[in-house]
Order: sequence, then C-alpha cells, then structure tokens
Amino acid sequence: MRDHEQIGKVIGVNSDLVTVEMAEPVMQNEMAYIVSGEYRLKSEVIKIQGSLVEVQVYEDTRGIRVGDKVIFTGELLSAELGPGLLGQVFDGLQNPLPKVAERFGFFIPRGTSLDALDRKRKWGFVPSAREGDTLSAGHFLGHVQEGVFTHYILVPFHLRGQYRVRTIADEGDYAVEDTVAQIETREGVSLDLTLMFHWPIKIPIRAYRERLRPSDTLITGIRIIDTFFPIAKGGTYCIPGPFGAGKTVLQHITARHAEIDLVIIAACGERAGEIVEVLREFPKIEDPRTGRSLMERTVIICNTSSMPVAARESSVYTAITIAEYYRQMGLDVLLLADSTSRWAQAMREISGRLEEIPGEEAYPAYLESRIASFYERAGAVVLSNGKTGSVTIGGTVSPAGGTFEEPVTQGTLKVVGAFHGLSRRRANARRFPSIDPHESWSNYPGIISPERLRTAREFLSKGREVEQMMKVVGEEGTSLDDYIDYLKAELLDHVYLQQNAFDRIDGVTSKERQDHVFGFLIHILSSSFTFPDKDVALRFFQSLRQLFIDWNYCEWDSRGFRETEAQLRDFLEGAKGDEKGLHPNT
Ligand code: ADP
Ligand code: MG
Repeated sequence: MRDHEQIGKVIGVNSDLVTVEMAEPVMQNEMAYIVSGEYRLKSEVIKIQGSLVEVQVYEDTRGIRVGDKVIFTGELLSAELGPGLLGQVFDGLQNPLPKVAERFGFFIPRGTSLDALDRKRKWGFVPSAREGDTLSAGHFLGHVQEGVFTHYILVPFHLRGQYRVRTIADEGDYAVEDTVAQIETREGVSLDLTLMFHWPIKIPIRAYRERLRPSDTLITGIRIIDTFFPIAKGGTYCIPGPFGAGKTVLQHITARHAEIDLVIIAACGERAGEIVEVLREFPKIEDPRTGRSLMERTVIICNTSSMPVAARESSVYTAITIAEYYRQMGLDVLLLADSTSRWAQAMREISGRLEEIPGEEAYPAYLESRIASFYERAGAVVLSNGKTGSVTIGGTVSPAGGTFEEPVTQGTLKVVGAFHGLSRRRANARRFPSIDPHESWSNYPGIISPERLRTAREFLSKGREVEQMMKVVGEEGTSLDDYIDYLKAELLDHVYLQQNAFDRIDGVTSKERQDHVFGFLIHILSSSFTFPDKDVALRFFQSLRQLFIDWNYCEWDSRGFRETEAQLRDFLEGAKGDEKGLHPNT
C-alpha cells in the first residue's frame, strides 16, 4: 500500500467504467474517488494499461465529465472489523442497510457511505496483554462482550513482525475508535491501536499458525446431509438447483441448526424482492439454542441486481472477510452464499465492459480461478495461542435452465468438498430437502460407517432401477422381490432422506439419533420379507412408514420414542415370523 494519494483526470466514461489518465503508477484494485461537482464517487481500479487506468464506479455515474479530478487513495477496498458487526445487515460495500433505510429510504444517495461500525457505541474492554509483552498480528489485546460472544480485540493483521506493548488501556468503556493500546517496533516506531481496524476484502486473512485438513463433521441436523453427504468444519460445499428447488430454504435451515457459532449470509439476489424477503424473514428465525432471534449470531451482506455491479461483485468478499475475522477469535463460522450465480454474473458484466476475451457463456476466462480462490478461503486453522477456528463455505448456484452443465456449477464442483445437487423432480414431488441422493457426493468423513452407508446406497439405486423398469413394464410386469426392494428404497426416502423442516423435532436430528435410527433402518432393509402379493407388501410398508414417521416426531430418548420403537420392532418381527406371508391388521 502507498501512503499518499495521487491525482488523475477523467478522459472517458463508458457506463460505470471510467478511463483515467495518470502520471504516476497506481495499484490494481486500489480505491479511487471521482470528484464530480459536489460528489465524491467511490470506485476501484480494475485495469491498468500504461498511463491509462480503468476504474469501476460503485455508484451511478451520471454527471461525470471528461476532465473531472480523480483521487487515488493508495488503499484497497477494505472492510471495517471490530465489535458491532453481529446482527447487522450490510450491502456489499458494508453500508449498514437499516441505517441507510432510516436516513434515505431504500437506496443510498450518490457519494454517500456510512460507517459500518457504530462510532458512538461504547464497549466494555477488558485488557489481557500487559506492558512489555511481545505481540504480532492476530494476537489478543483483550476482549469486549459482543452479545453472547467474547469478542477478542486483535493486533491488526497487516502488521508484520513483532511489537512491544508500550501502554494498554485499563478496563473500561471505549468506542471503536478509541485507543486501547500503544505498541512499538524494535526501532521504536509507535502505533496506536483501537477496537477496530481495516482489512482489504480481496486478500485472505492468514494471521494463524497453521491450516488443518478439514476432518470434523459439521453436524447440520439434516439427515441426508450428515449421514450421506457430510460437510466438514472448515470445508466447502455447493448447492446447485433450479429456481424454486429449495436452495434458500435449505440454507436457512442449515443456518439455524448447524453446530457452529456464527453465520454469515451473503445474499446475492436476483430481484430486490428476494432480499426484502431475507431481511423480513431472517430476523424472525428463532435460534433454537437461545429462543431469541438468530440474527444475534448472524451477519447479513446483501445486494440486489439493481445495485451497482462492483458492489455486487464485492459482497462475497466482504462476507468472507468478516467470517475470517471471527475465525481469528477461535470461533466456528459458517458462510452461506446465495446465490453465487449472481456474483458470477457481476463478474461477467464487468468483464464484458472491459471488452475482455470471453470464455464459456460469456463468463470471463478467469471465472474458475476466482471461484477457486473464494472457496479456498474456507478452512480450519490453529491460531497462535493454540485455539482452533474454522470457516465453512456453502454456496448455492442457480443455473439458468437448471442444468448443471454450465460454467459456474462446473467451476464450483472442481473445488468444493461436497456437492448437494437439488432436484426439480424431488421439489415438485415435495420431497424435501430436495437433495438428489443419486447425484450428490461428499469427500468428507461422516457419522455413519462406510459399510452401512453402502447398504443404504445399494437399496436407493436398486429402488431407482425398479422404478424406471416399472415405468416401462408396469407394476404387473415387476417381480414381487423387485417390488419389495422398491418399497424398501421408498421407505428409506420417506422416513430418512425427507425431513419436515417445520417440525421442532423432525426438523433437526442429532448425531446420536441419526446413528440410532439409521441402524434400525439398515436392519429393516437387510431383513427379508415374504408377502403373498404386492398389495399386502404395499400395505405393510405403508403402515411401517407411518409408524416410522410417528417415531421421527417423538422427542429423542423420550418415553414415546422408546414405546414407538418397540412398536416398530413388534410390527417388523410379526412380518418376518409368518412364513407364508403376512397380513398386518392395520
Ligand atoms: P430456491 O431458493 O431454490 O429458488 P426456495 O428455497 O425459495 O427455492 O424454495 C421454494 C419453495 O419450495 C419454498 O417457498 C417452499 O414452499 C418450498 N420448500 C423448499 N424447501 C422446503 C422444505 N425443506 N420444506 C418444505 N418446503 C420447502
Ligand atoms: Mg433462493
């Protein structure tokens, strides 16, 4: 970073792309302000060609004229990091949207930006560093209480090398810009540290000791995920699915029940309506742990297609930067991006305007590498104090036309560790969550042994085969044994893969319960039954399904749970005991 501003002059305007002539060199992605009349319009360097610099303006470019002055700040687009981020809703440039709405209505006026962090609010700072301590980037100076979290005040990440603490503030109330520590280099250069600092959003935060291979299963409470296609803490996964397939609902359920500390939502909407929905719905989501609003441990970064393209492009970076910041405190953070297709479209628009050579479907040739470097910012890490933290990233993709054979889905598939493909057919049949059990996969270790999983998978494939066959030859043309296999697969689907997101108990299944229930299902799948005909078989499996679903609605390990399980076992034994077939009296 440069420590001084530089001045250039507008020589051309093409929509939100402005060409500036510069005498001095500037940096890629450096922030600049175009001075247009009374406005200072925020923009970013996106291309440098000799003395000509293309800047992308974050706002409406009306009124910009050739000859206007441009101030290059020498700084990259950065996020404000400090206490007070939780519970907030920001746009891609970290303007707090509720404040924008309060002051200006839905849209922020040109040339305006608001502080992301409240400058007046006081935080009770408790120092932990002492005078004379040697510290470096990411070390703790002390903490404040942010809601239910201990928010550690960190040595800013951009500081290189070691510093000696000269003074540290006493315990007391401080605003984010108040100095709480003075540190100095070996050479005696001294720096004032406050509760907040900045970090450039496109650069990963790496103030940790080491990265770990993601191996701990992140329990989401969603059976088809945890059992079949698990996610790991610090891992990555992608949810592609056509419009209306259930991507957003699935992410909201995950946000609510996953065993993580914080949720960062990057809501990149198609229409303003989708975002209004998020803003209206999200605060209503109850945190099952506290009974209060889930917003207390959430940050939302949102944008709509009516916002300037550069702001849309930057929102996923603002989101990941905030996620990485909290990881540095030893927290497990889940970043959910919905939908990354909108982000890719913003990249496509910018690239088109720069007249770059387009790749597939007019996306820029660097689309895949941008997607990869975004997901690579996920990870489980060991901090310098030995604590661990993680950022898990789950991104939805909404391919036009619903096919997964398109650049954003394919580019994402190459880098993520798990793939939860949503199926239009399952959504139409209201089989939720509509994760396709045949298309999806995961490379992460789950909670169920591979052998038991294999049995379940075999039944699912067999069931699908029989179903396809039945479509051709009809039920009459299908053998009784094949039909029973089909019924077994349907049972597995209805009582295990499908889950009622709106039920307090069925909506979230603990690891222990999944293990127990899945074991029982495997027992059913592996049992052989003799039925006199298909009708009897069908009725038996229908009753079994109903009983099983009742079981799913019983509180784990309650009396009702144990009684229903006993009933299920009796029902099953009755069926197997009758050599000639069975006639369950239901
Ligand atoms: P997408 O984000 O893929 O466009 P949504 O998540 O908005 O789709 O889901 C569309 C609709 O499908 C929802 O409004 C809801 O009616 C239904 N739906 C999605 N997921 C579930 C679920 N798990 N349980 C019940 N209904 C669901
Ligand atoms: Mg959606």
